[in-house]
Amino acid sequence: MSLHRQIGSATLTLLRGDITEQDTEAIVNAANSGLLGGGGVDGAIHRAGGPRILEECRKIREQQGECPAGESVITGGGNLKARFVIHTVGPVWHGGGEGEDDLLGSAYRNSLLLASARRIRSIAFPSISTGAYGFPIDRASKIAFDTVSGFLKNDSPLEEVRLVVYSQEDYEAYAFLF
Ligand code: ADP
Repeated sequence: MSLHRQIGSATLTLLRGDITEQDTEAIVNAANSGLLGGGGVDGAIHRAGGPRILEECRKIREQQGECPAGESVITGGGNLKARFVIHTVGPVWHGGGEGEDDLLGSAYRNSLLLASARRIRSIAFPSISTGAYGFPIDRASKIAFDTVSGFLKNDSPLEEVRLVVYSQEDYEAYAFLF
């Protein structure tokens, strides 16, 4: 199940699937500030990618401390098909009055910037913040779609951005925007 849309010179794809199985050059992890693993996407990526990813995350933490919401760091992909994992921290939903929208947009934008700086051509995102962090899917999907679309309208080395969702319900929320 997938949908495609051309934006600038890139393709934006919506796909129902598992983020850990994506063959894009980079996949994005819905990490937490501690960068030392967690549940959901984070747990799945570390399980599938093996211990090297956590080792690199530990080093980053030693060097720069925790990763605040809205920011991103990059490691290798360990045993994953993807060569890189971009770990980004989405905001925890507190009702929408604490800058959650801007922080979620920043999480997507900073991940795209990091990928572009590394000349990465393809990247897959999970639906950041809409699991354990409780961000409403309708609002989050619009921010994801608008932020990625806006980014791709400007010059970037990215040729493909994949939005990978797990559930049918989430797929429908995103599909509405395509
Ligand atoms: P957050 O803590 O940022 O909310 P979660 O990992 O809890 O992140 O969930 C984010 C979204 O990713 C949820 O919609 C969840 O259903 C989905 N998800 C969980 N595991 C996977 C996976 N392996 N591949 C793709 N999406 C997943």
